[in-house]
Amino acid sequence: METNRIQSIVIVGGGTAGWMTAAALARILGPDYARITLVESDEIGTVGVGEATIPQINIFNRMLGIDEDDFVRRTKGSFKLGIEFVDWGGIGQRYFHPFGNIGVDMGGVSFHAFWQRLRGEPEFADVEDYSVMAKAARHGKFMRPTTAPGSLLSSIAYAFHFDAGLYALYLRELAEANGVRRVEGKITDVARNGETGHIEHVTMADGRVVGGQLFIDCSGFGGLLIGRALGVPYVDWSSFLPCNRAVAVPCEHGGEFTPYTRSTARSAGWQWRIPLQHRIGNGHVYCSDYISDDEAAAVLLANLDGKPLADPRFLKFTTGHRARFWEKNCVSIGLSAGFMEPLESTSIWMIQTGIARLLSNFPDRGFEPASIERYNRLMVEESELVRDFLVLHYHVTTRDDSDFWNYCRTMPIPDRLAEKIRVFQSSGRAFREHEELFNDTSWFAVMEGQRLGARGFDPVAELMPIEQTRDRLRQIKAAVTASVDHMPLHRDYIREHCAA
Ligand SMILES: Cc1cc2nc3c(=O)[nH]c(=O)nc-3n(C[C@H](O)[C@H](O)[C@H](O)COP(=O)(O)OP(=O)(O)OC[C@H]3O[C@@H](n4cnc5c(N)ncnc54)[C@H](O)[C@@H]3O)c2cc1C
Repeated sequence: METNRIQSIVIVGGGTAGWMTAAALARILGPDYARITLVESDEIGTVGVGEATIPQINIFNRMLGIDEDDFVRRTKGSFKLGIEFVDWGGIGQRYFHPFGNIGVDMGGVSFHAFWQRLRGEPEFADVEDYSVMAKAARHGKFMRPTTAPGSLLSSIAYAFHFDAGLYALYLRELAEANGVRRVEGKITDVARNGETGHIEHVTMADGRVVGGQLFIDCSGFGGLLIGRALGVPYVDWSSFLPCNRAVAVPCEHGGEFTPYTRSTARSAGWQWRIPLQHRIGNGHVYCSDYISDDEAAAVLLANLDGKPLADPRFLKFTTGHRARFWEKNCVSIGLSAGFMEPLESTSIWMIQTGIARLLSNFPDRGFEPASIERYNRLMVEESELVRDFLVLHYHVTTRDDSDFWNYCRTMPIPDRLAEKIRVFQSSGRAFREHEELFNDTSWFAVMEGQRLGARGFDPVAELMPIEQTRDRLRQIKAAVTASVDHMPLHRDYIREHCAA
């Protein structure tokens, strides 16, 4: 019987999305299932940013069988324990959103409920005392988790910062070793079947044709296949996340080699600082309604650790997503599918989740609609949940020093987020919606960090007598301190294991 399976896959685009997709499909499908071709244009190039990740990338790396030291060395990367937010809740305030746990849940009750019960007592006031990641970050320390059972050091959660260009090259090598064919050239035409509307082939400027049965659009913001060829509209979320520009510049190191990303709020947006081994990546994300490009660049250049290593580069974007991520025989992954600013480093993860969902809903040549609809529903839900978490950062603030912050503080927000805020304010409860990316610890860290101000605490925390609660918190704090004392400095750890 003739097979109906997909035998040729064409990936359009060789940025992070294209090469992540190529490496994953080649690894999972193996060399004999389908021919995989990736088309990229050196003339167009890649977006060239996207250097901070979240711990879920470790799942992707393991799936690819990556040797982590080699990976960090070759991408000139560093380790990341979370994000420091400066001036977000109010000017002069800072907090840390750590990866992993804060404290230890006890008797099925969240740690933060116990902490909220005691928060008025100065001895317990600093929530960062209860997170190994937050405390290690503050002291510039890092190590990977140990295997010692029961030790807090076994629960270290981390991600990476890396050079985006080197990351794409690294993945390209893996993908090509697993049989992916790379074609260089600029696509000028996309041909569709007159009856089904499916994409049949793409044509390059020099007349070469690349045909396939399944197309993955990783062509970046332009959305060459999903948008321009298939006409799938874009859902605009600018009213919730008004920033629409970024200016990026790398600079020399100026001292601190921190194992975390820093995000500093500015008058019309925010600035990122991402330390790599050979440089620091910096960028200013802003809203063009409130600040000019020149002013935004000036703010960025005035706030660098060291000498700039290139001219500032400007990027434009619209926050939102494709109404359908998958249309006919084309799946969009990466910037072609949508974009949310890198405030919580979620874009590379959205690529990862797109790939995972494509694999678990993998089509045959019939492109049966039920799985496509399911894919689209899941991707939209995922995006909305991430969006709400980002909006939280802008909305829960006391800042009134600029028109931008006045807008963000008073803007209408999605209903589900409004509910989460009300629940936290009234009961101190932070919770995860279904299988959303950010768990209750993350929601708590940001809500508390931005001083949302819970009026109460979860009453079930009273299951534990108050003196016992104090003792337990003292023990956890001491265990966190001892763990962090044991950890090496981030720069020493890199020097020993994975120096570029
Ligand atoms: C300012 C900013 C900061 C960011 N920071 C982070 C971060 O810290 N963490 C994070 O997770 N994400 C971040 N992102 C997102 C991240 O950069 C992207 O998700 C990631 O780089 C994927 O991009 P991409 O591969 O979809 O697109 P691109 O990198 O733009 O690649 C598009 C590819 O398509 C090719 N192409 C396009 N048109 C054609 C054509 N006609 N013919 C042939 N080839 C074509 C290009 O040559 C290129 O190879 C950031 C994004 C921005 C804008």
